[in-house]
Amino acid sequence: MTDEIVFEKIRGIHNVLREEFYSSGHRTCEGCEPAMVMRMFSKAAGPRTIALGTTGCMYVANTAYMTTPWVIPWMHAQLGAGGSSALGTSAGLRALMKKGKIPKEKINTIAFCGDLGGADMGLAAISSALQTDYDLLIILYDNESAANTDIQATGMTTWGAQTTFTPTGSVKRIMQNRWKKNVAPMLAAGHPNVKYIATAIASYPPLDLLNKVRKALSVGGPTFIHTLAPCPKGWDYHPRYSDKLGELAARTGIFPVYEIENGVARLTYKPPTPRVPVREYLEMQGRFAHFKDEDFQYVQSHVDAMWEDWELPGIVPIKDGRIKS
Ligand code: SF4
Ligand code: MG
Repeated sequence: MTDEIVFEKIRGIHNVLREEFYSSGHRTCEGCEPAMVMRMFSKAAGPRTIALGTTGCMYVANTAYMTTPWVIPWMHAQLGAGGSSALGTSAGLRALMKKGKIPKEKINTIAFCGDLGGADMGLAAISSALQTDYDLLIILYDNESAANTDIQATGMTTWGAQTTFTPTGSVKRIMQNRWKKNVAPMLAAGHPNVKYIATAIASYPPLDLLNKVRKALSVGGPTFIHTLAPCPKGWDYHPRYSDKLGELAARTGIFPVYEIENGVARLTYKPPTPRVPVREYLEMQGRFAHFKDEDFQYVQSHVDAMWEDWELPGIVPIKDGRIKS
């Protein structure tokens, strides 16, 4: 066993580990992109990894009674406990190594949480974990709903989307009238000792998520990655389009892809000029089937403002000293 694991940058598909650490045996829906996030982070991290899964689709669908797809050690944590389970595990490993009860070596601690468990209910626990100096990575897989309890809206749901909490109707067409929470910059701005925070999409750009996981694990310290993860059931599209929707989220600019390393923010993917109209992304999803022209224009105007007005395009919502949305 080695003391250190060297995480080299993955430059092509041939560099990706052939071994699977999130294997067959799960019961996620066909085309589930959160499942792809699980597969990719475990491939990037390798076998010396402990995965901590909070309640959500990636707990419920992955660990039906007496089955599991996890080949690495795995533990279920309470819905809002992504931060605290990661912190406790990392602190426990450090104590055991310090006391000589287990060999000193690099063991990756990775907690994953959904948007309800991470960005809403579990935000306080993540904040606490990000204020420490423990080696841990928290991965938010954001499918913009509480999917395992039947697609309820969360603080991360796109404006206007239909969910079981926000159905469209003849009196009120738009029930989900909150703009999506901007969680990664919020965590970066409030936790100056965090060395690495990033956003990513499993399908696009290729290899980006794998390398961001590797970078986070190499940096050590508390780190955080927010992934946008299309969900065929909740977003209402054919499962074959999960990768395409991920690509369109990046190319339309509705989900900016970037990293913040030691306080320096950098876009890791620049959308084309001009950006792909956001309507192309929204029209592929049944949850926006009730949209009229004015609704598409409303979302487009917000996306345009993100890229044209914000102090750091797509990242920091400040213009002329005022917070924008
Ligand atoms: Fe995946 Fe969505 Fe199905 Fe949950 S509901 S298993 S997130 S596709
Ligand atoms: Mg969710």
